[in-house]
Amino acid sequence: MDLFEHQAKELFADYGIPVPRGIVAHTVDEARAAAEQLTGRVVVKAQVKTGGRGKAGGVKVADDAQDAVEKAKAILGMDIKGHTVHKVLVEEASAIAEEYYFSFLLDRANRTFLAICSAAGGMDIEEVAHSAPEKVAKVPVSALTGVDRERAREIAVAGGLPEQALDGAAELIEKLWCCFVDEDATLVEVNPMILSADGQVKALDGKVTLDDNAVFRQPDHESYADKSAEDPLEAAAKAKDLNYVKLDGDVGIIGNGAGLVMSTLDVVAYAGEAFPGKPAPANFLDIGGGASAEVMAAGLEIILSDPSVKSIFVNVFGGITSCDAVANGIVAAFKLLESRGEAVTHPLVVRLDGNNAQLGRQILADAALPRVELVDTMDDAAKRVAELASVGA
Ligand code: GDP
Ligand code: MN
Repeated sequence: MDLFEHQAKELFADYGIPVPRGIVAHTVDEARAAAEQLTGRVVVKAQVKTGGRGKAGGVKVADDAQDAVEKAKAILGMDIKGHTVHKVLVEEASAIAEEYYFSFLLDRANRTFLAICSAAGGMDIEEVAHSAPEKVAKVPVSALTGVDRERAREIAVAGGLPEQALDGAAELIEKLWCCFVDEDATLVEVNPMILSADGQVKALDGKVTLDDNAVFRQPDHESYADKSAEDPLEAAAKAKDLNYVKLDGDVGIIGNGAGLVMSTLDVVAYAGEAFPGKPAPANFLDIGGGASAEVMAAGLEIILSDPSVKSIFVNVFGGITSCDAVANGIVAAFKLLESRGEAVTHPLVVRLDGNNAQLGRQILADAALPRVELVDTMDDAAKRVAELASVGA
């Protein structure tokens, strides 16, 4: 999970890292109030989870509260690389003497952590890394020894930071390492890390990626989730522990095992090419092992509440979960949904193969569920389900 800049800075502040005072505003009026409270020059900054806001016009210095209102008007509602700006961070303006770059990240390829530091920070760091890579120090950090003040200073020196910034930078870097480790982050980036006119080293921007696999031991992290950005169907699926991703097409997909579901998406997309309207997958849904009636019903329910779905493909390869269990799950799910007044009216194409496939097919045939068709192969099933979606089912 990526954090907004203001969340990253709140986190940094918890670790004693110097950041400018700032207030989040969702409206122009709130921006005015924030600027009045901060007094003096402020910076109005678009809060979107993408970089390059400065170059896109999403970071503007304002002379006073009235000017902050104008800047907020221009920035709120702006589109930056496909992200709409719903809130701004109003911050006391900093007098910048120099801009540096600093980050810690997980270097998966080399199985280590990495510190990246450069005296040539700011908005052109990508260009610097490309044209003058010698100006960007990349220092591996052992998980066992970590980063103390002395090591932090060495990294700052390697990045070419000037003498007057070394003490401040070393302190910031040491604290940032604590934040990186304690919060189970995979990235903490400060660009620019500035030397202010009065000689202080501060984090002027912040980017943090938290490791979602650590949520079980980081209960606080849930509060960072951006509910407004979540797809409502994905949120509902998550609440039911389903592995669901919403896509743009009209064929609902349910399968067991992520690999099988991924290839089902490909096969359906390919089959759809041949039909008018080119039907395509509406979602990814992996029900995993143990396709009980409850899981099957929950999956069907999510897919059926997607208004773009016209037909559904249940693609199961029986392994540890045998096909008869899945077939019973489908039959029970139909009954469960019917009893709730949500009877399945969409056509369902089912392909069962693998462990106990014969028995599974028999169970479905005996149940004679309305609008359920059994197709033997994955390719034929994909064609049929695409055809059904194409004719509007
Ligand atoms: P990004 O473009 O999305 O990375 O946004 P940043 O937060 O890094 O801001 C972009 C640039 O705006 C920085 O590199 C600074 O040059 C400038 N900037 C940001 N805050 C201030 C400030 O308080 N004072 C001044 N003078 N410039 C700022
Ligand atoms: Mn930045």
